[in-house]
Amino acid sequence: MNETKARQIVLAARPHGRPKLSDFRLEETAIPTPSAEQILLRVQYLSLDPYMRGRMDDRKSYAKPVSIGDVMEGESVAEVIASKHPTYSEGDIVLARTGWRTHALSDRADLRKLDPAVAPVTTGLGVFGMPGFTAYSGLRVIGKPKPGETVVVAAASGPVGSLVGQLAKIDGARAVGIAGGSAKCAYVKNELRFDAAIDHRAADFPSQLAAACPNGIDVYFENVGGAIWQAVLPLLNKFARVPVCGLIAQYNGVGRGDGTDRLPATMREVLSKSLTLRGFINYEFAAEYYPAFLREVGAGIADGRIRYREDFVDGLENAPEAFIGMLEGRNFGKLIVRVAG
Ligand code: NDP
Repeated sequence: MNETKARQIVLAARPHGRPKLSDFRLEETAIPTPSAEQILLRVQYLSLDPYMRGRMDDRKSYAKPVSIGDVMEGESVAEVIASKHPTYSEGDIVLARTGWRTHALSDRADLRKLDPAVAPVTTGLGVFGMPGFTAYSGLRVIGKPKPGETVVVAAASGPVGSLVGQLAKIDGARAVGIAGGSAKCAYVKNELRFDAAIDHRAADFPSQLAAACPNGIDVYFENVGGAIWQAVLPLLNKFARVPVCGLIAQYNGVGRGDGTDRLPATMREVLSKSLTLRGFINYEFAAEYYPAFLREVGAGIADGRIRYREDFVDGLENAPEAFIGMLEGRNFGKLIVRVAG
């Protein structure tokens, strides 16, 4: 190991609306030394995820905000480079909540060891990790698609949406993906084998969506909110289920929305169509469903039934720009920063 310094990215300022590069700061620190029961991790791959935008705001949510001056939160694939913990040895590859940095100490027993023979280690940040489990649990526990039903999901080329549609197909349902732009739509239809893919940037998006769902929508897996929700709402069938997973169209908002109040129309449809809307955070289902997720999705990755796409960015210093771009759809697949090769 030649490095003499560690690097980290901290939250420099709270964004108002779209984050700016100046809301982040790159710092150099000493590489820490593990004491008893601790391990020293060197980050190989850092995951960038939409939830991190919420951590930048100082408001009440399901998780605490990152404080100004603290390292941005995040999960990574890391190599154990020194260990004083009985369970871990040098060279082990683990999933760890290191945050946006090159090196981290850990004394946690709940790291997940990754076996490259089971699946490429980077999948632990996407289809075979938290985002994949989000898709799996939200669809299976709340969406419950039946054969022949129509399942619609947006952000369909990303790690959550891509697995939602593929699992829906495995369950015998029709999968309709919504994505931004022709390249993402082609990928969703041709590579992920959804039944249809609709570009939400098209001027006639609502009518294209209606045409792709001739029998209405039975499960709408909500990843986005905003204008997409508005187009989906009238198409929901009686007894439709809506796992409310994410609202990325709103994350950069400062509370005023786009001037459209969708609440009265939403509540009317909830009542008249006996809809089930249920918000969830993936870890609520982990104790009960994580082993089944690992089995089923692991087997699907291994035999090629489940496909995924990763979008790599090189260098920790480029994480802020990549993260800002993801909130606008500039990523194409699971966004991962290659921190060290
Ligand atoms: P992705 O990798 O798919 O990246 C986000 C995508 O969202 C963008 O690429 C873009 O895709 C789409 N997007 C961004 N802004 C808009 C907009 N205004 N309108 C429509 N689409 C937009 O992300 P993930 O798969 O990691 O996450 C998907 C959703 O799931 C997010 O909302 C996230 O917060 C949520 N989530 C929730 C969890 C939970 O436990 N509840 C856990 C993990 C994720 P495109 O260009 O195709 O529009």
